[in-house]
Amino acid sequence: MLVDLRGAPLAGSVSETLDELATIGRSHRGGITRVAWSDELFRAYDWIGERMHELGLEVEVDPAGNLVGRWNVGTGKAVAIGSHLDTVPSGGRLDGAFGVVGALHAVALLQAEGFTPARPLWVIGFMDEEGTRFNTALFGSQAFTGGPLGDVAERADAEGTTLRAAMAEVGREFDRAGEAHGTDQLAAFLEMHIEQGPLLESEGLDIGVVTSIVGLRGYRVHLYGQANHAGTTPMQLRRDALAGAARVVLELREFARSRPDVTANVGKIAVDPGGANVVPGVADFTVDVRAATMDGLEELHRVVERTVATIAAEERLEFGVEATYSLDPLELDPAMVDTVERAAVAEGARWRRMPSGAGHDAMLVGRHVPTGMIFVPSRDGISHSPEEYTSPGQLELGTRVLAAALRDLLRTGG
Ligand SMILES: [Zn+2]
Repeated sequence: MLVDLRGAPLAGSVSETLDELATIGRSHRGGITRVAWSDELFRAYDWIGERMHELGLEVEVDPAGNLVGRWNVGTGKAVAIGSHLDTVPSGGRLDGAFGVVGALHAVALLQAEGFTPARPLWVIGFMDEEGTRFNTALFGSQAFTGGPLGDVAERADAEGTTLRAAMAEVGREFDRAGEAHGTDQLAAFLEMHIEQGPLLESEGLDIGVVTSIVGLRGYRVHLYGQANHAGTTPMQLRRDALAGAARVVLELREFARSRPDVTANVGKIAVDPGGANVVPGVADFTVDVRAATMDGLEELHRVVERTVATIAAEERLEFGVEATYSLDPLELDPAMVDTVERAAVAEGARWRRMPSGAGHDAMLVGRHVPTGMIFVPSRDGISHSPEEYTSPGQLELGTRVLAAALRDLLRTGG
């Protein structure tokens, strides 16, 4: 059943609002590109900011570039809902955006029924969740939680623009991003998101009640051999960096396949000098490993180091392994998990508890504030693609579950 959430000021269904937002940053091939600090992202902020105004929210873009709409009612610490409005290059219309648009529709739903929150309600679109432009994933939520931003100001995008310069272009100072710190003012955070995996669809379910978020480690591996003539160098005497890298890729895949709860991915590789008739002298590649538990993550760390060292020795290569990013797994707040579950039951959804295999802003906010997550199904498990799809009915149901959870969380002030 499709419940009608329309009415002033959001005129259409959740899916229709997402369609309108998706016109901002859409390429002629249908993909949506709103990378961090871009014109397109700030045009989306303007559009969402107008909708926030219409709902009576006080709108701010904070020093870290997070879009925050505040419904200043009630007493005590606020409940925050939302996700992110940035996308990967040529991404879909739902990843991140659904969490913000659904949040606005949930607010509209509460307002339409005359519900008055006993404490403030914030809707947040975090800056740069994806991290594709400057390799600074979760930048906005990191600043919002008071975490260290690290030495990233001079990181440049593909055009050579630094993060510091990109922020300056929109009137933000990198050195003041830490002022975005807001978790002290929150009582709870609830992020709604598409699953980005096939589980809910394959089990015929509507709602995922998220219990934990996987941890991840990123590495950059360098293998050094000897560039040489591809015709005159005997096969047994070659020190081929790419052949070594290929063995590492397959070995890590074998290990991850042997476990139910870990993943390993090599997504980027560069070879030097890069000639068809030259034995590769250098191979540089990334490794991304994930696990739902700390033990799993620590084991993956040992496996990456051991695999690279062993294969480098066998292939007579020099090597280096550099850690590039790291996030520990997070168990979500049990009371928040229960709240989401009760909301799913109240709305008659078919639901299950499940971990999240993707990172989210909730995994940072959830280290400081009781946090929950709601998943809706992703058709064929596809995400980070123009093919992302969740049915309008499933989007509405997720939004109703969010609203039901809010009625619960906003019943008492502080
Ligand atoms: Zn996302």
